[in-house]
Amino acid sequence: MKSTKDIAELLDEPACEHNKKEKSGCAKPKPGSAAGGCAFDGAQIALLPIADVAHIVHGPIACAGSSWDNRGTRSSGSDLYRYGMTTDLTEQDVIMGRSEKRLFHSIKQAIDSYDPPAVFIYNTCVPALVGDDIGAICKQAEQRWGVTVVPIDCAGFYGTKNLGNRIAGDAMVNHVIGTRDPDLLPEGSARPGIRVHDVNLVGEYNIAGEFWHVLPLLDELGLRVLCTLSGDARFREVQTMHKAEVNMMVCSKAMVNVARKLQQKYGTPWFEGSFYGITDTSLALRDFARVIGDSDLTERTEALIAREETRIRKALEPWRERLAGKRVLLFTGGVKSWSVISALQDLGMVVVATGTKKSTEEDKARIRELMGEDTVMIEDGSPKALLKIVRDYQADILIAGGRNMYTALKARVPFLDINQEREFGYEGYQGMLELVRQLALTIESPVWPAVRAPAPWKVECASRTISASKIEKVRLAYPSAE
Ligand code: SF4
Repeated sequence: MKSTKDIAELLDEPACEHNKKEKSGCAKPKPGSAAGGCAFDGAQIALLPIADVAHIVHGPIACAGSSWDNRGTRSSGSDLYRYGMTTDLTEQDVIMGRSEKRLFHSIKQAIDSYDPPAVFIYNTCVPALVGDDIGAICKQAEQRWGVTVVPIDCAGFYGTKNLGNRIAGDAMVNHVIGTRDPDLLPEGSARPGIRVHDVNLVGEYNIAGEFWHVLPLLDELGLRVLCTLSGDARFREVQTMHKAEVNMMVCSKAMVNVARKLQQKYGTPWFEGSFYGITDTSLALRDFARVIGDSDLTERTEALIAREETRIRKALEPWRERLAGKRVLLFTGGVKSWSVISALQDLGMVVVATGTKKSTEEDKARIRELMGEDTVMIEDGSPKALLKIVRDYQADILIAGGRNMYTALKARVPFLDINQEREFGYEGYQGMLELVRQLALTIESPVWPAVRAPAPWKVECASRTISASKIEKVRLAYPSAE
């Protein structure tokens, strides 16, 4: 079980901008703050996309059950990550003291059944309280079966989802990264005049396969992605992350400790960026060239940006006319709170307010940069507060996470899901086309005039009332007709 000191160290992340201020340390969890996801949930969400690993949740069935497959990440090959594996502890196991034994047998079963390159063990509240030594069990299993078994000590009561992300990152730095060198480039893959540079993406989850919009561009530039931690990643790729020339942090808060520790340990520089929107995609590509410092790469990057921007702006033109001036309330967190603003502004839309509940100080500074000093930042994500802002600012659409969907739909407000459960990928230049298509389909859907119109039975009642009054008039005009 982690000590209070270990948890305090994880919370006091030096790479967070607000830790450079007088009052340092990320906010300590308050009672109820794990309601949006506990530390276990955060750790599992961060690592589950590593597709060929057997992910075993050590705890009661509910921990695995309520967190299974809750990120719409896609894999281009193995789907072992989608198998929900758990030690399924019951009170009998706790009373009889056999939970460690169950874990040992579960590891054996996973290895026998699926032959994975590695097994990840996620600790949860019950075994952490009982005092299971998952580190020792993992070591013993590794020696017995010769397969890497990684302990991820992330009991839910340690803190919030964000802390869980960091615990996961820490486990990768301590147990996995640096254990293998990257493969040589395939024979015949060299292109004249193009020098290949190895890079990593940290915090890229390949939601709905959106990173596949960006990958061909990096490939064209000669940037070989050693690993995306963790979207569509393989265990053997994570092992080689220490050899990259540069790391890009894709989601600012999630695993910033990985980028910082790789810089400390291996001297790999890192930068923060996003692939949402034309401006930010171009900026991220430029940043790769800038940090690597290859003048030829810079030249080719500028040529690629010019070509892609022209192509996509032309393709967006018909949609832009339909969406320009539409008002958006954006309620999301972290890096998306500013990166999606830039994507929407690229389309000529007006962002009336944005959510900053999970945003860092840097995220907020970027929002101000994009939207001005007087921008409305929303901390209160309750349905009442959100709907008030929709009404006050006359928003045409609410863009938020899936849990706000029914708030919007019940209030008959068009809604677009932007978080991890979504079905569509919005990254890169091509992703902008998908975003614009989904925005137009949502705002222009014929369902909105239909549900906003008075109900048919009310219209019928009204017409009956008119008819009744007409009848009364006739009765008074022609009393003899009765
Ligand atoms: S790890 Fe703890 S807080 Fe998280 S789901 Fe399991 S029991 Fe609940």
